[in-house]
Amino acid sequence: MTQVALTGVGKSFGPVEVIHDIDLTVDSGELVVFVGPSGCGKSTLLRLICGLEHLTRGEIAIGGQSMRGIDPAKREVAMVFQSYALYPHMTVADNMGFALRMSGMNKPARAERVREAARILRLEDLLERLPKQLSGGQRQRVAIGRAIVRDPKVFLFDEPLSNLDAELRVQMRMEISALHRQLGATMIYVTHDQVEAMTLADRIVVLRDGRIEQVGTPSDLYARPRNLFVAGFIGSPRMNLLAGTVAGISADGIEVALSGVADQTLALGVDAAQVSAGDAVTVGIRPEHVVASQDGDLALDVEVEFVENLGGISYLHAPRFAAGPLIVEDRGRTNHGPHAVRLGIPANEAHLFTADGAAVQRRQ
Ligand code: ADP
Ligand code: MG
Repeated sequence: MTQVALTGVGKSFGPVEVIHDIDLTVDSGELVVFVGPSGCGKSTLLRLICGLEHLTRGEIAIGGQSMRGIDPAKREVAMVFQSYALYPHMTVADNMGFALRMSGMNKPARAERVREAARILRLEDLLERLPKQLSGGQRQRVAIGRAIVRDPKVFLFDEPLSNLDAELRVQMRMEISALHRQLGATMIYVTHDQVEAMTLADRIVVLRDGRIEQVGTPSDLYARPRNLFVAGFIGSPRMNLLAGTVAGISADGIEVALSGVADQTLALGVDAAQVSAGDAVTVGIRPEHVVASQDGDLALDVEVEFVENLGGISYLHAPRFAAGPLIVEDRGRTNHGPHAVRLGIPANEAHLFTADGAAVQRRQ
């Protein structure tokens, strides 16, 4: 059983620190996804775990053993990259068995490992083909096969699906998920795509500028983002973020007035200790949580400027709404032109953030 533990991990390239003080434990058999914008340090973290980069600070342990001074080849970690980098002149079988041949494993044992990986990845009929005779998805499966044959304790995936088209990405995502269940191995998967993170992960680690913003299950991060960054990053279309002011504080929570919305306040049952009357705040509401006005606790008069019709659902866009641009999910709407509409915000779906971006906790 193989846990991966990072303690106080930091990495600098010359004078520039790109990873700051990361503490994280990936449990044995868990599939953890690192997600964050390009340049936030995802690949660097993976390279530190597999030993392709040296730590500047801190400690990484795999299976309870410190990796300090341990060669990448001895870490029993396999990495799958975005570029498959298959050897063009070798068959699928030879590509998959190459690392085993280099490590001196005999031919029958190698063939057995390759056969088993090919079975798991449904590549049995393609073993004698060359990479150029494969589709993109098949090539990526061969790249994953190269990792599987080594029987690693930990799999690291660095944006392995970025080169595939959208449909194939969805399919490969399901295959990786099935592979994880089948192998029961510890996996760390890196992506900049929050949909990929949400659908694959046991737990998601949201990174920004080399720091962890939040760690949690997909539903935790969706329901309880800890700050504005996570709120805006997880969910598609993203959460609406509306400007407001704390109009009053009572025993039940606080009253928020939205900018440009007169004569009404939204009563939120949140912990009032983090804010004071008059404070600027942000109210977050996801597109799918905005309702018809009679079902909400705050009514909004909204000028819809265009409607994105996806068939089953539509997104109403009100880019000039007074408190901030608004996108609203709507089912069964027939009016696809610009129009005025009265919508409601249910208090129990609203999120509240202080001026410095921290989420204000809900009352339990
Ligand atoms: P991500 O994978 O999240 O897109 P990276 O881990 O590749 O991000 O990069 C994180 C930061 O570290 C970036 O600012 C990048 O420019 C920098 N960086 C990565 N590798 C090196 C390197 N070998 N030398 C200098 N800077 C690097
Ligand atoms: Mg990267």
